Amino acid sequence: MFDYTSIKAFHTALQNGQTTCVEAVLFYTQAIREQAHLNAFLELYETEALQRAKELDAAAVSGNLTGPLHGVVVGLKDVIAHKGHTLTASSKMLSNFQSLYNATATQKLLDAGAIIIGRQNCDEFAMGSSNENSAFGPVLNAADNTRVAGGSSGGSAVAVQAGLCMVSLGSDTGGSVRQPADFCGIIGLKPSYGRISRYGLIAYASSFDQIGIFSTSLEDAALVLEVIAGPDEYDSTVAQEAVLPYSKAILKGTIAPETANISNELSEEKIAHAAKKFKLAYFKEALEHPSLDKNIQEQTLAYFERLKQEGHTVTAIDFSLLEYVVPTYYVLTTAEASSNLSRYDGVRYGHRTAATGNDLTEMYKASRSEGFGEEVKRRILLGTFVLSEGFYDAYFTKAQQVRQLLKQQTNSIFQEFDAILSPTVPSPAFKIGEKTNDPIEMFLGDIYTVYANLVGIPAISLPLFTHTNGMPFGLQVMTRSFDEMGLIQLSARLMELKS
Ligand code: GLN
Repeated sequence: MFDYTSIKAFHTALQNGQTTCVEAVLFYTQAIREQAHLNAFLELYETEALQRAKELDAAAVSGNLTGPLHGVVVGLKDVIAHKGHTLTASSKMLSNFQSLYNATATQKLLDAGAIIIGRQNCDEFAMGSSNENSAFGPVLNAADNTRVAGGSSGGSAVAVQAGLCMVSLGSDTGGSVRQPADFCGIIGLKPSYGRISRYGLIAYASSFDQIGIFSTSLEDAALVLEVIAGPDEYDSTVAQEAVLPYSKAILKGTIAPETANISNELSEEKIAHAAKKFKLAYFKEALEHPSLDKNIQEQTLAYFERLKQEGHTVTAIDFSLLEYVVPTYYVLTTAEASSNLSRYDGVRYGHRTAATGNDLTEMYKASRSEGFGEEVKRRILLGTFVLSEGFYDAYFTKAQQVRQLLKQQTNSIFQEFDAILSPTVPSPAFKIGEKTNDPIEMFLGDIYTVYANLVGIPAISLPLFTHTNGMPFGLQVMTRSFDEMGLIQLSARLMELKS
């Protein structure tokens, strides 16, 4: 029986002849079929994945793997372009659309030897926090089928949670990787804005969007990041900052400098890191927020005490702007969405109304009204409103000013601290249907995640806790822009302290 723990362990098993890529693909295709009720996948590429697995097995002569992700079975959120494959953003608008090219992230996965197993369900155009906004039905949380998966990358999270693929790629504009990871008890990593190319990622809010990674092991997330990050001539917003060997920086076990054998495997740098005591901060307003579930609050604060016992400093700092992050996020992202989604007009892309008439404007209106779902329409209307003459300064300009203030405050926080910690979400996964009639409440659930996208810093949700109701929940860790290395190293230390 195929058993998966990490890419590294899978590669060792391949090299020892204990498994094959074909065996892996057969295992996952069967699991996806057996768990079809979860609705995590919109499409399974069975024949194609099996063919690729055969080729990879044949190419790996005498244990030489073809690349760092050789045979790694990956799922893609339905907003990431995959040449020759359907790409719908879980929207009726694009239900017949086929991608003409690969996203840069997709191309890098393929070049590294990965096998793409299927296309994963999500909230329509990545707008949502529960995966209930998909035109193809909600995704169910595998830990409790009456609860939501989280969103918008719910299918990608549940696929990893339920063992339907090894890792998934999602997208995170305001928490869409970290929040479902929290709800599903897995790792969700959103790198810095500009770390991974957005070429081939369907745009929601371009100054916020970032591809992110779901995995069960931290090493896997680090390795996938290493492969898909980096400059890209097709996306001028990608940073030139060096991509470091993140996966090699993870040190298991805290080894005292005097007992470690420097010449044997561990660099001095790694040993210094293993002994490092971190300066950690948390926002007082975040942990005292009335929307925060009591059990999440208690367990998070108890964990902070354990960190202090380990010799780290954990300091409560004031963050009076917390109340403004959700409104600022929704003003700016809806504005960007109203502009980005104007391309879906029934002419250039996607759904065109069957209604006949001579009026071009009527055709646009009917195509967009039929093609978009309710939440997407709400965002387009909101965004068009905040950009409209007479309201632009009151909303859009104001929100941009708040974003600037947030960036300044963030810079000064990171002059003093290594990382900021917070719960990822104020509540555990809620029941399907529980919040669908209250969009504002749904928006407010994004209170801890949108901050990292507003200021562009990397953030991760680590599956450290189990709620008294039995559901998992996570701890969010954030570091300064482009310090993915620090984020991953600290996360490794935090995962060791999992109770
Ligand atoms: N829940 C947030 C929203 O609906 C985040 C979505 C995302 O990160 N794609 O905008």
